[in-house]
Amino acid sequence: MKLPGPIHLLSDPSISLLKRIRVLMANEEGVQERLDHFVKLIASAMKVNVASIYLRSGEDLELCATKGLKQSAVHQTKLALGEGLVGRVAQRARLLNLANAPKHPSFAYKPETGEEKFQSFLGVPLLRGGRNLGVLVVQSKKARRFTEVEVENLLTVAMILAEIAVEDERAVDKQGHMDGIRLAPSRPETFVGKAFADGLAKGRAYLHQPPVLAKRMLASNVPLEEERMETAIAKLRKSVDAMVSGATNQLDRASKDIFESYRMFAYDRSWVERLRTAVHSGLSAEGAVERVRNEHRARMLKARDPYLRARLHDLEDLANRLHRILGGEDLSGGARELPQEAIVFARNLGPAEILDYDRSRLKGIVLEEGAATAHATIICRTLGIPLIGQTEGVLDRVEAGDEVLADGDRGQAFIRPSRDAKEDFTVRIGMRQALNKAFEAQRDLATRTKDGKDVSLLLNAGLLVDLPALDRVGADGIGLFRTEFQFMIAESMPRLSEQIEFYKGAIEASGDRPVTFRTLDLGGDKILPYADPVPEDNPAIGWRAIRIGLDRPSMLRYQLRALLTAGAGEHLRIMFPMVATVSEFIEAKAHMAKEISRAKKLGIKPPKKLEVGVMLETPALAWQIDAICKHADFVSIGANDLMQFFFAADRDNPRVANRYDGLHPAALSLLAYIAKRCKVHNTPVTVCGEMGGHALEAICLIALGFSNLSMPATGIGPVKSAILALDAGKLAKIIKPLMSSSTDADSLRERVVAFCAKEGIPI
Ligand code: PEP
Ligand code: MG
Repeated sequence: MKLPGPIHLLSDPSISLLKRIRVLMANEEGVQERLDHFVKLIASAMKVNVASIYLRSGEDLELCATKGLKQSAVHQTKLALGEGLVGRVAQRARLLNLANAPKHPSFAYKPETGEEKFQSFLGVPLLRGGRNLGVLVVQSKKARRFTEVEVENLLTVAMILAEIAVEDERAVDKQGHMDGIRLAPSRPETFVGKAFADGLAKGRAYLHQPPVLAKRMLASNVPLEEERMETAIAKLRKSVDAMVSGATNQLDRASKDIFESYRMFAYDRSWVERLRTAVHSGLSAEGAVERVRNEHRARMLKARDPYLRARLHDLEDLANRLHRILGGEDLSGGARELPQEAIVFARNLGPAEILDYDRSRLKGIVLEEGAATAHATIICRTLGIPLIGQTEGVLDRVEAGDEVLADGDRGQAFIRPSRDAKEDFTVRIGMRQALNKAFEAQRDLATRTKDGKDVSLLLNAGLLVDLPALDRVGADGIGLFRTEFQFMIAESMPRLSEQIEFYKGAIEASGDRPVTFRTLDLGGDKILPYADPVPEDNPAIGWRAIRIGLDRPSMLRYQLRALLTAGAGEHLRIMFPMVATVSEFIEAKAHMAKEISRAKKLGIKPPKKLEVGVMLETPALAWQIDAICKHADFVSIGANDLMQFFFAADRDNPRVANRYDGLHPAALSLLAYIAKRCKVHNTPVTVCGEMGGHALEAICLIALGFSNLSMPATGIGPVKSAILALDAGKLAKIIKPLMSSSTDADSLRERVVAFCAKEGIPI
């Protein structure tokens, strides 16, 4: 994509204009006075006869301040969107530069303004956060087109004005709010996305990438800002180079393509030149980034072509990165303070970025992207944070501090909700509480189907804060303890003693209930902020999990040492992730054997019972099931990975992640086969992927013969309710005949839903 060419340096008068704007902003004036001052400053600095500000008032544009037109027209003259030249600028979000305005076919004569005597016209949109707030216009008697320098100056001023206007409007104590002028979006809006993590949350919007405040947009010391900008660009390029070569933060899990286009933009001469020029004109480095970003945003919103939109999105991300560098943030995120009851809005978040937020305040998350089995989603489900994903365009419509209702059950976000929506939500929260009470009431009942099958419901956990949920939801133990989460939230590699403490904490909190520790499953989208990842084209099928453990056994050995020490005298269950061949499992067990004999030599008490299992996450291992059952004490199906490899659909890529259903007959027959072979070998088997935590999928798994399901805490209540009402034999009779390879259905979901409706199974 070609970026616009370099802009010219701003002329001296505009530099002094920016300085004067700084002074103006420091004054404690009312909103109207500020605007009046603003237009005077512009008219004199640009040596024009007229400078006017039109702001959005409902669907119209209202003349709010002018120097040069008749003052009596202020707050009287209104234009519809698209009406006249001003309306045209606003509607198209594009500047208009005319030498002979009255001759233009769109010119609308407004006699009360007395503007007919002015020939030249330059109108620029007031853009903020991708929204169009109004129009800034300069006019002259002389018929001439404005120069490129003048146009650039006015665009810069328009950006600052837009920010000031919104800040003024939002400052509650500001005197003289203008009647009817609403710049920040104020209407209720509902966004329908995907329900990735259930739950209902009320709160206030918090933007993961907040906008730059107007007062931070102007430089107090231009050379210093120039230096800041140069340093930031150099750091940005370095970080982008590192991303391309895979050597730094890939929490966003963006594809190499995206990194490549990042690099293209980071080195694009015209982009960098525009940033430099903007700083040279008197903007702060942050203001310059914002100024250049605004142009791209306006184009992005208009771009229909998805490829172009995606590339412009990359530029937006790059601008965000520059902001973070300028703010002194290290690009791996960093702990973030949150206001109370925060609903975080972002384009996408990686798992570590979520864990960086203060959990007691983080109530919900709304993403423009996201995927159902991405690790960020799993974290939200584990923590019980509602997550709504794939809500396209939401970032352009939400303002920090807006009231928000996040409905993770239905995948909806209500921004500035109406009274009706709030009432409805309150009712639903009440219903949910009642449901939770019902789950609580069934907590101590045996989990048994109507036809007498006992099922064990286990918890997926990874942090010590997850553990109180064991009692709260009445789980039978921890079926999957994702040990890498501790590593991901740490500042540096946890020491042996820290690991031991951590595992001991989990064992103690579980009491008599079993805990199954999974050894580190790093790689893919689970990156340690303090380690140097290796560049890879396909990290999900790359150097991850047990592959790292076997190639660099010291970390694996260290972890096994910690687990054996923590589990001294206890019932200890350990499993290895992402095993693809029996020999890998045997090799991993050999490391374990060495650690066991080391512990023996040191006199460490052995576990009272040690079980070593395998995660079945690769289709290849399903075809070695008879062999692996001879070596493993138990099998745990990582259905998230198993399905992504089975269907060859990246679980983190929203374009393909939802393309295939886990209730596809082919997937079910694979799972049924595993269950059957494990039964033949008398090897206990658990399903610990996300599917086990959804009532509908869970009952299918039970019908296929599974009796151990491990899931996030939020899944246990609903899954148990469904099991209590299930006749597994009846369901098996319906789905098993449909699982043959001659079935052409893409999913058995509808059949199962119909079965549940008939049987009165709550799903
Ligand atoms: C899985 O793949 O299903 C699994 C449980 O492991 P993770 O989601 O952590 O990759
Ligand atoms: Mg997995």
